[in-house]
Amino acid sequence: MIYLDHAATSPPRREVLEAVWPYLTSVTGNPSSAHEAGRAARAGLDAARSGVAQVLGCRPGEVVFTGGGTEADNLAVTGIAGADPHRRRVVVSAIEHPAVLETARALVQRGFRVDEVGVDGFGVVDLEQLERLVDDGTALVSVMYANNEVGTVQPLAEVSRICRAHGVPLHTDAVQAAGHLPLDTGELGVDALSVSAHKFGGLRGSGALFVRGAVPLEPLLHGGGQEQGRRSGTVDVAGAVGTAVALGLAEAAREEESARLRALRDRLVAGVLDAVPGARLTGHPVRRLPHHASFCFAGVGGETVLLELEAAGIACSSGSACSAGSEDASHVLLATGLDADTARTAVRFSMGPSTTEADVEAVLRALPLAVRAAGRA
Ligand code: PLP
Repeated sequence: MIYLDHAATSPPRREVLEAVWPYLTSVTGNPSSAHEAGRAARAGLDAARSGVAQVLGCRPGEVVFTGGGTEADNLAVTGIAGADPHRRRVVVSAIEHPAVLETARALVQRGFRVDEVGVDGFGVVDLEQLERLVDDGTALVSVMYANNEVGTVQPLAEVSRICRAHGVPLHTDAVQAAGHLPLDTGELGVDALSVSAHKFGGLRGSGALFVRGAVPLEPLLHGGGQEQGRRSGTVDVAGAVGTAVALGLAEAAREEESARLRALRDRLVAGVLDAVPGARLTGHPVRRLPHHASFCFAGVGGETVLLELEAAGIACSSGSACSAGSEDASHVLLATGLDADTARTAVRFSMGPSTTEADVEAVLRALPLAVRAAGRA
């Protein structure tokens, strides 16, 4: 099977499995315990926190380990908005992952006004609309770093400038960007940033949230006060170690690997547009994730193309794994101006460390046949 669904999940790296093994077998104390076994686990956790902080360009105390990207997003949105009793407005982009979008919408029950900023046809957030919506009453802005369905990378520097002008905290969901784009939180100008380990070779169910020291955060989970009171619950040391090792490895290889994947992606995009009648690229042609290519195929159901490709030994997705199976057209593609019928034809290829030129050539051979067969179905 040629696996081209790394944006849904990417297999854990061998080095990650080797690094976490001791924390599952011998270093098994509770990092909050004072005895030797606890101190050993605490040392592993501290090292993991420093490792993540190094990649994010922040202080270790600004890193909160979470049970994945969804939890990091929930904690950022609810935690930051909920911590400021004087500001009752939240602004998010209309193409956020449900982990942000639905969390923001849930704040309406708590008396918040939630505005969703639109995007252009390439999926780039409308900065003029954002500027009109953000004011001194805004508790939080959340704009994702890069979109999971169409791959578009957002102009975070401009978003940050708008937020800074009003002293509004900016959260970014960097779940898809992590491992592929620079993550220095100071240079990005963000106050909170979410990552999920299973997108860059760590373990599923592990993630982290950076929250700038000065930004108050209301915890989602109440209990023993772990993670400096920001995320109660005995910390999953193995998950944290895996996250740090995977992030460190991805960052060390990032420039070289991104260039390699970008070349493969460009070959795939050019080949598909050339060989498949009616194919169109979704998202931005240039400002997009290096490993990500997404298309619509006029008049051909995306799910049917996926089945044809699977029969040809190729695994990819119809956009986002989370909404796969649902009949609803993607909110992201609708926001870019596509009609619902066209949006239902979406197919996404996302590459990773195992992807080779031969894989891309195999897709280019199989896809025209798959689309033709799907069109007859
Ligand atoms: N945010 C984005 C942009 C994603 O693509 C995903 C997962 O696909 C998530 C958040 C959720 O992350 P997790 O699967 O770790 O909960």
